[in-house]
Amino acid sequence: MIVIKFGGTSVGDAQRVANAIDIVAERRHLQPIVVVSALSGVTNDLVAASEAARRGELAKVDEIIGRIRQRHEDVAVQLVQQKFDFLDAFMKQLDKQLDQIHTILRGFTLLGEITDRAKDKVSALGEKLSSVLFAYSMKMRALPGEHVDSEDVVITDDRFCEAAPLMDDTREAARRVLLPHIERNLIPVMGGFIGRTRDGATTTLGRGGSDYSAAIVGAAVGAKEIQIWTDVDGMMTCDPRLIPSARVIDRISYVEAAELAWFGAKVLHPKTIAPAVDEGIPVRVLNTHNVASPGTLVTAEGDDRRGGPRAVALKKGITVVHMTSNKMLGAHGFLAKLFAVFEELQISVDLITTSEVSVSVTVDEMHPQLPAKLKDVADVEVHDRQCIVAIVGRHLMDDAQVGARVFSAMQGIPISMFSLGTSGLNLSIVVDEKDADRAVKSIHHALFEVPVAV
Ligand code: ADP
Ligand code: ASP
Ligand code: MG
Repeated sequence: MIVIKFGGTSVGDAQRVANAIDIVAERRHLQPIVVVSALSGVTNDLVAASEAARRGELAKVDEIIGRIRQRHEDVAVQLVQQKFDFLDAFMKQLDKQLDQIHTILRGFTLLGEITDRAKDKVSALGEKLSSVLFAYSMKMRALPGEHVDSEDVVITDDRFCEAAPLMDDTREAARRVLLPHIERNLIPVMGGFIGRTRDGATTTLGRGGSDYSAAIVGAAVGAKEIQIWTDVDGMMTCDPRLIPSARVIDRISYVEAAELAWFGAKVLHPKTIAPAVDEGIPVRVLNTHNVASPGTLVTAEGDDRRGGPRAVALKKGITVVHMTSNKMLGAHGFLAKLFAVFEELQISVDLITTSEVSVSVTVDEMHPQLPAKLKDVADVEVHDRQCIVAIVGRHLMDDAQVGARVFSAMQGIPISMFSLGTSGLNLSIVVDEKDADRAVKSIHHALFEVPVAV
């Protein structure tokens, strides 16, 4: 068994869905389970519809729902039309699901507020529709696609909008629901991103979470490989949107891939690797628009031929909190007091640097109460619109040239923090958002575009 996951751009229109189905057909002998994202842009539209409904902008809600209907109808008409009963069945489902979501959205307007629980119900619609459409389209192309409701497979906790799988329940459900189809030579097709709590409420796994779904399902059924089909040739030395000359990495370890994902390499959702690691399942990142490309293979051992820098990632929109206290000079307990406040407010910290009298941390989201709560412990300075530029690779600093190259590449760009993880896996530099692209380009050039001296 393998899991094949298609991202939003890979199922963006009828031509792409047809292309994705060909990819599945060529891998039929590997007993695939297909996980699909929403059609590109649909989840953004659904989130926008929830917000518009809360603000009472019903005309905007109608316009968005109309657009979502049209997108799915267009694909259905092109791919399913030859078989009228499939088209009719799909259109009935489309109408039913959209009506239900419309009713929920009108509820947001009446109440003037949205709960995360209700928001998940709306956001999940994209994958519900895309997976049904994909399964019908497979049948049209003589492949036995069997739609499976992800809510019957992925069982999660109740942290709506950012749910985590309950793996024992999910393993039991996935085997019970998916394996009978595989045994009958059918190809299960399910939406990514979606799960359900034990008591039956729809949840989502966080934005970009379809990769995570693929890994959860792969781990639950003991798949041989998890394939993430996307719109680039694999994991690359940098986001190719930022560095068009970035190169594909042929093999990388779980830890390096996880670190890159966490520090902004959106090609993999940061949580994707964990279920694969637990079961030792290889993850392969592949390009739906360039099927011949071998992609990137992510495994425990990665590329054991080499260490050193593998890629540069950029995480935007972070906040730096500098905390200073002269009273703490030589005293113990300073860090414990500071972090008690972070714990109380449930703020998670990415990078930390310290000196005797000060501590600096980066946080993804600033909590409005943080400065006031820290007031008794330290003087606080907050800088928003900061970025982390992360250079990732095993044994990163074994080559003394790496540090020298990185810092000379900064060419006078101010650095507000830097940190070398003790695992030697990640050198992170914090710069202002306005300098970030220049820093990434310059570091990428220094590490990957000029020959290494021997
Ligand atoms: P999907 O819809 O298939 O899930 P995403 O948009 O989530 O696709 O992820 C693919 C995008 O990730 C690419 O188009 C690319 O711009 C971006 N990306 C960021 N960093 C990297 C990287 N290091 N290697 C490859 N792609 C990257
Ligand atoms: N459709 C969801 C999103 O846009 C999940 C995904 O595409 O991975 O966030
Ligand atoms: Mg993605």
